[in-house]
Amino acid sequence: MMQNTLHILLLNQWAMPLGLLIGLFVFILGAVAGSFAGVVVTRLPLSLLAHAHDVQSSDPNVLGSYTTPTLAYPRSHCWHCSTQLRVIHTIPLISYLLLKGECSYCKKPIGFSLFAIELLSALWWTFCFLQYGLSGAFLVFSVYGSALLCLAFIDGQTQLLPDAITQPLLWAGLITSSIGVGNLSLNLSLFGAVLGYCVLWIISRAYLIIKGEVGLGDGDIKLVAAIGAWIGPFALIALILIASLSGILAALILRFKEKMNPGDYIPFGPFLVASALLIQALLSPNYYHLLIGKLGGF
Ligand SMILES: [Zn+2]
Repeated sequence: MMQNTLHILLLNQWAMPLGLLIGLFVFILGAVAGSFAGVVVTRLPLSLLAHAHDVQSSDPNVLGSYTTPTLAYPRSHCWHCSTQLRVIHTIPLISYLLLKGECSYCKKPIGFSLFAIELLSALWWTFCFLQYGLSGAFLVFSVYGSALLCLAFIDGQTQLLPDAITQPLLWAGLITSSIGVGNLSLNLSLFGAVLGYCVLWIISRAYLIIKGEVGLGDGDIKLVAAIGAWIGPFALIALILIASLSGILAALILRFKEKMNPGDYIPFGPFLVASALLIQALLSPNYYHLLIGKLGGF
């Protein structure tokens, strides 16, 4: 009895610091995942463009002195002066702050987006840890968030949404539901993916017929299908509404501030990703029970 009470007292005493320590570890893990996502954001579009246009042989200037980059090659270097980075320059979050956002060799700016993706990824992983604890769901939804961030930044910078990420994301959503992680059944997950693809396909073709120009890329359609597999058909309607309205609002603000001309294209991916993360957060256990559970076990 005495020993049990002592055990509980010790547990209570250590639970808080231990939780904080694990939380900090998760934050760092999220930043490292964000750092990897940053590598993908920088290199995957270059690699795709190189394959698409075969620039290796025809126009080496497009990729500087390097051949097609892969995720591992060439080693981390400054994209301005090509100097290889030292280990201290590759620590997620900290390096950017220490270097004050510029290359330590040539003093040219390092993209703020790399810092942003590391920070957002770290915050998302910490949020998932607070929602799911250390579990399979935590890992699955954390990686899902980092992959979505990757897509948002790639689309924002290059207006590409690579199949190399959207396709595995769709399969991962279906597999996640099939093994019972999260709130979705496999049927709803499948229905979400199909509905997402069909709704966006109809909107994009209608836009093409009415306006005579491409309003939505195929990448957007595949991304919505992938997100549909993760959130199901009901939340998908909310996703499309929130993403569209926030996209239109952003376009209006940019037009008002004269930073966007009529006919300019604003990438839809970042708005889809922001809405998907918001909805995924609301579907996580604490909020899900708060929002839906009280309405009668929807
Ligand atoms: Zn440099």
